[in-house]
Amino acid sequence: MADQIRIKDLEVYGNHGVYKEEQVLGQKFLISAVLYTDTKRAGVSDQLKYSVDYGQVCKKIKEMMEKHTFQLIERAAEVVAKNLLLEFSLLEKVEIEVKKPWAPIGLPLDYVSVKIQRGWHRAYIGVGSNMGDRMEYINHAIDQIEEQEDTKVVHVSSLIETKPYGGVEQDDFLNGCIAIDTLKEPEELLDFLMDIEQQAGRKRTIHWGPRTLDLDILMYDDLVMNERKLTIPHKEMHKRMFVLEPLAEIAPYLMHPLLKETVLQLKDKVVEEENKK
Ligand code: ADP
Ligand code: MG
Repeated sequence: MADQIRIKDLEVYGNHGVYKEEQVLGQKFLISAVLYTDTKRAGVSDQLKYSVDYGQVCKKIKEMMEKHTFQLIERAAEVVAKNLLLEFSLLEKVEIEVKKPWAPIGLPLDYVSVKIQRGWHRAYIGVGSNMGDRMEYINHAIDQIEEQEDTKVVHVSSLIETKPYGGVEQDDFLNGCIAIDTLKEPEELLDFLMDIEQQAGRKRTIHWGPRTLDLDILMYDDLVMNERKLTIPHKEMHKRMFVLEPLAEIAPYLMHPLLKETVLQLKDKVVEEENKK
């Protein structure tokens, strides 16, 4: 989204800093914000309800900066960004800069600042279980995701019964996919999902073996990444019918950013391959 509403150098007084004096006496901070939101509807209708009210945004920033005492302006920026994204539903992304013109470092400077960008991300999660009460494990996981303040579940696919994959002798799986909107960054999302798996009593013993709960990040916006702990898009998703079938139900035209094909096209390919056998 290219449209922006910009706030420059909103002046607030706050008690942030590492030194005790800063926390007691307080000092001036200047906050700038770039609000990314589609302004077309407000532009056409001339009605404030279709836009992000920058007056309210300024009040919220002031409130956050005055209510808390942070050691770091990194933290101040993080809290301001998160609260704006949670409170103003039309905001897709924000850029926040917190300037500290009186930073007590014993040297003259104009100001020191921290600038961050935070926003909502659309992610697709594959869910699976083949031990115990499979439906219950999956539903409980979806509830736990939904309970997060910074994450909304937007679509849930049907759950399908599938044969195990990878050659290990084990019970059938129940598989599905969900779409979420989240403020979590990819690594944060992975840690959160692994935490839910742990709580479900998942033990990582046999590779591709039985599990109470498996939660995989299939896609995250159109991000492509390959780190030790995390590969996005999920390495195997385009080969697995138990991913593509439920995913095609909730996001048929979602584009795989590397293969440049939609989920529906990927699914049709796997069906074709299977028919050849
Ligand atoms: P699988 O889901 O392939 O059966 P596991 O659930 O046991 O395997 O995952 C093993 C590891 O895969 C995790 O520890 C995690 O760090 C890594 N991993 C890499 N990419 C992803 C991803 N996109 N989603 C989830 N886990 C991932
Ligand atoms: Mg997994």
